[in-house]
Amino acid sequence: MSIFKFKIPLHTQILIALIAGAAFGAFFNVGHDTLIINYNKKGELLEETIEKWDKIVFEGRENEKVFYADEQTAILKHFKKIEKKKDIVIEVHKAVEVNTYTEVITMAKEKTIATAIKPLGNIFIRLLSFLAIPLVIATLIVGAASLKDIRKLGRVGGKTFGIYIITTAIAISIGLGAANIIKPGEKVSVQAKERLMGTYQDDSPGDIDEEMGIDILDFLVQIVPKNPINAMADGRMLQIVFFAVFFGITLTLIDKSKSDPVIRLFDGISDVMIKMVDVIMLLAPYGVFALIAATVADFGFDILQTLVWYMGAVILGLALQTFIVYPALLKFVGKSGPIKYFKAMRNAQAIAFSSSSSAATLPVTLDAVENKLGIPKQIAGFVLPLGATINMDGTALYQGVAAVFIAQVYGMDLTMAEQLTIVLTAVLASIGTAPVPGVGIIMLVIILQSVNIPPEGIALILGVDRLLDMCRTVTNVTGDGAVAVTIAGTEKKYNSL
Ligand code: ASP
Repeated sequence: MSIFKFKIPLHTQILIALIAGAAFGAFFNVGHDTLIINYNKKGELLEETIEKWDKIVFEGRENEKVFYADEQTAILKHFKKIEKKKDIVIEVHKAVEVNTYTEVITMAKEKTIATAIKPLGNIFIRLLSFLAIPLVIATLIVGAASLKDIRKLGRVGGKTFGIYIITTAIAISIGLGAANIIKPGEKVSVQAKERLMGTYQDDSPGDIDEEMGIDILDFLVQIVPKNPINAMADGRMLQIVFFAVFFGITLTLIDKSKSDPVIRLFDGISDVMIKMVDVIMLLAPYGVFALIAATVADFGFDILQTLVWYMGAVILGLALQTFIVYPALLKFVGKSGPIKYFKAMRNAQAIAFSSSSSAATLPVTLDAVENKLGIPKQIAGFVLPLGATINMDGTALYQGVAAVFIAQVYGMDLTMAEQLTIVLTAVLASIGTAPVPGVGIIMLVIILQSVNIPPEGIALILGVDRLLDMCRTVTNVTGDGAVAVTIAGTEKKYNSL
């Protein structure tokens, strides 16, 4: 028998790609003591790589500043901010040597092969992302039309919403608990605090002037799209869900001879989309490899040390939610086997981790829940798109830890009432959080404001946000699928729905 007949299963290939990508990225990592400078000298454009400096000094009126050896990120941010780059002089001090650069045009990190292959990963994520909207529309229309009866839809919808809210509330409580017990904020030194604030302050969404807040009535109004095509073009998930469900239900109210071809059309579209997921997933090992390699190569690992307790609290919380809360939900409420569930979800989890986007992962989640776990289309097609939109347990949990962490660094003690306010605000915020990378940290501003924690404290945690975003997205996606399976388990007669 030829060895070529032996085929490695896709989920194993993706796992290998994840590990190999991380190793590749670590090997070809971007030097954190290296900068590429482009500057003009006597009319000539020159490029120079500077390495292992002791000190970099910016001279020139209001832009004067001194940076030391391990402040690459801060240097690049400072340079970017300078409006009149021509007016500054940059001195690079290395032991006894000082080099001076004028008319500096760009300052950048070096590029390595690991960051250069990122476009391959981006293509993979874009392929998955473009499937999300048509897939949601088609599956929801068919799902709602086949439920046939508004009462059944109401029951499934109510249950789905209820379980989503409960799991999110549990998640954030775990987050608060972990942060209160571990007390990560008390383990950050004053110097570390100052440096983090100095480096990331300008990026924090905290200096948004207007007061952000959640207006529930406005939120409800916004669920109804003025123009469904606009909603689709802008990827407004809740509006799309509203339109598609309404459309699907109304299909059952018109003449069968007219509704049948429409349902068949959308059913066909949904099947094509799912097939496209299968084809695109053949690229998954390469896409995952490229994404992870680029992220690891570009990551400043030195910051991990400073924030290790904070990250530990978030990751411990996410692990509890993912490996204890969901299996319990599946077993005791959904009456289904957690092990089978986790096996089926492996691909979706790996894609969630590499893409940091529940929306991009949705097609893979749908594929796993429908095809691998055999959950009927009516349930999966309804519960999962809704979940990708409103259910963000990982995000809510992380926001709980982050709020307490920032409060601790600022020496604030949060009362029980304040922690409860965090629970409520985070549950609402997670409904409004878009399922794309990095949004959780923006919604965190609202939560911090609700209990008067200074929002600029976000600067403290920005450096590790990408890594935690990857982890919390895995929990978000695992939660969506677990609820879909649970709902199916409680709807005994779902096959005849
Ligand atoms: N990246 C997360 C998601 O798509 C959202 C977030 O927490 O930023 O699920």
